Amino acid sequence: MTDLFAGPDTPASHPIDEPLYGAAALAVRDQLREPTDLEVAIRVAQQLLDSDSVPALQEALRLLLRAHGAEPTTRPAAVEPPALRCPAAHPEDPSPCGGPVAVTVLDAHNGGANGCEHHAARLLASLEGGRVAPLPHAPEGSAIRVFKTSGTLRPFAWLAPEGGERR
Ligand SMILES: [Zn+2]
Repeated sequence: MTDLFAGPDTPASHPIDEPLYGAAALAVRDQLREPTDLEVAIRVAQQLLDSDSVPALQEALRLLLRAHGAEPTTRPAAVEPPALRCPAAHPEDPSPCGGPVAVTVLDAHNGGANGCEHHAARLLASLEGGRVAPLPHAPEGSAIRVFKTSGTLRPFAWLAPEGGERR
């Protein structure tokens, strides 16, 4: 039972001194009862309609489905995890690792990330005052190669259309 669509002619279900109309009536009505799942879902959907956020829109859809008792019976397939890459790989850099984790790249504040030579060089090229140090098990010359390669790269090489090599 819902008086969601009750008009001003419909008697209020609770005694009120004066008849209320419009926004005032809606405000009182909303205080008198808990909103239904559907009303919550509709409000959320209205607020999120212009959202660019896929998770937010998914949540709005989920609320609507739940309000209608139409939740999916199977869980959505697990999202394929991104291929494991070394810690030096920038999240926006889609390139795969170029070998084992071999070096540590340190920034000017001694914050460090271990990485393969490929991602370490890209990270080093993107840092102000960065340094590279070989890890104990690093292949011979790893740090030198990373250092030399980074000198040929633009900062944030993965953003450059030509692959980030300096001309
Ligand atoms: Zn890597």
